[in-house]
Amino acid sequence: VQRSLVLVKPDGVRRGLSGEILRRIEAKGYTLVAVELREATQEILAAHYAEHEGKPFYAPLVEFMLSGPVLAVVIEGQRCIEGFRSLAGATDPTTAAPGTVRGDLGRDWGLAVQQNLVHGSDSEESAAREIGIWFPELTR
Ligand code: ATP
Repeated sequence: VQRSLVLVKPDGVRRGLSGEILRRIEAKGYTLVAVELREATQEILAAHYAEHEGKPFYAPLVEFMLSGPVLAVVIEGQRCIEGFRSLAGATDPTTAAPGTVRGDLGRDWGLAVQQNLVHGSDSEESAAREIGIWFPELTR
């Protein structure tokens, strides 16, 4: 059974969408293994977004992720990595399909970073890595 690391980003928490996003995850049939509202740190984000270091949106992305609390979530279920990415929709909320979190609830706010409400792991390798970053107690 797969696990995936999901984040409700600061825009989602600020807009009061945490419950709606958890509702969609549970309605899909995935299990919530861990749910924690917390402030990210530079250290956690440097590890989490290591692959984006050096890209033009990296600094604004980290600043955005530090702008308020995030809801860190571990979900579980068969093929939940692919399944959550399908629920989340495309990166750009303007064109993300209706029916998805980003397509239904997101839009372009004219900012340097796509504020797109959620993150979901994109592979088993990144899920294991990201769960280790956000919830080390789950991997011991
Ligand atoms: P997905 O893989 O579903 O597109 P993601 O969160 O994995 O979502 P990444 O490509 O890993 O997307 O980028 C991480 C985050 O950085 C995005 O979710 C978005 O917030 C921001 N981002 C990515 N590309 C851009 C860009 N070209 N301009 C501004 N922000 C971006």
